[in-house]
Amino acid sequence: MLGRRAHLFRVSGVSVGADVTSLLVLLLVAATLAMRPTFLPQATDAVRWVAALAGALGLLASIVFHELGHAIAAQAVGVRVSRITLFLFGGVAELDSDPIHPWRDAATTIAGPLSTGVLALLLLLLARSAAAWPGGAGAAAFTVLQYLLSINLLIALFNLLPAFPLDGGRLLRALLWRVRGDYRWATRIAARVGTGLALALIALGVGSALFDRLRFGGLWSVLLGMFLLRAALQTARAYAPTPAADGVDGPHPAQRPPAGDGSQVDRRR
Ligand SMILES: [Zn+2]
Repeated sequence: MLGRRAHLFRVSGVSVGADVTSLLVLLLVAATLAMRPTFLPQATDAVRWVAALAGALGLLASIVFHELGHAIAAQAVGVRVSRITLFLFGGVAELDSDPIHPWRDAATTIAGPLSTGVLALLLLLLARSAAAWPGGAGAAAFTVLQYLLSINLLIALFNLLPAFPLDGGRLLRALLWRVRGDYRWATRIAARVGTGLALALIALGVGSALFDRLRFGGLWSVLLGMFLLRAALQTARAYAPTPAADGVDGPHPAQRPPAGDGSQVDRRR
C-alpha cells in the first residue's frame, strides 16, 4: 500500500514521514481550495493560492497530529510505535505489536479522535482571534483556520464510524474483545462490520456520482470505500478461525493487515 517514504522529522522517538502519494493530496487539496468560488473571493490570485497551500499543509499537519495522538498513547501503555506515515488515504501509525489488552487498545485508539478534538478547539480559538485582525491577512487567516476547523471535526467524526480499520471499528473490537475475551473473534466481527460499512460507502459514492452534482466527492467515496473494504477483508482473512486454538494471538506480522486511518475524508471537498 505504501510506496516510497520520505522521513520528515522525529517526535517522541517516532519517525514521521510521507509517502509520495501525500504530495498528490497536497496539490489536489490546494488546487480544490484555490478554485473554490467561496474561498477568499475578494483576494488576489497570489493570496488565494498561498492561503490554499497553507490550508492543504494544515490538513496534512492535522493528520500527523491525529496519528501522534495514537502513537503517544500507545507508548504510554507500553506499545512501541515505529513510525507514522502520511499517504493517499490519510495517515497510519505503525505499532510494533498487536494490542495486548482491550482497554489499552481502546485508550490508544480513542487518543486519535480526542487529539483531533483538542486541535479543533484550538483552531476555533485561533479563528476567533484572527477574525478580529484588521485587513486582508486577518480574513485569509480566518478562512484557512475555519477550513481546518471543519476538516478536523470531519476527521474526528469520520474516524469514529464503526468501520474497521477506522478508529470506531477498533473501539468496537476492543469492546467485543472485553466482553468475550477473544481477540481474534472480536477482530473478525469488527472486520465484518467494517466490510459492510465500506460497501455502503462505495454504494453511496456511486449513487452520488450518478444522481448528484458531487461527482468528485462520489468518486472519492468509492475509492475510500474500496481502500477500507480491502483492509477489512484482509483483516477478516488474517484472523479467520484456524484448526488450532482460536486464542488471543494475533497473526504473523507479515500477515498483519495495515492499520489505517480515515483521516482523509476532507480531500473530496
Ligand atoms: Zn485514528
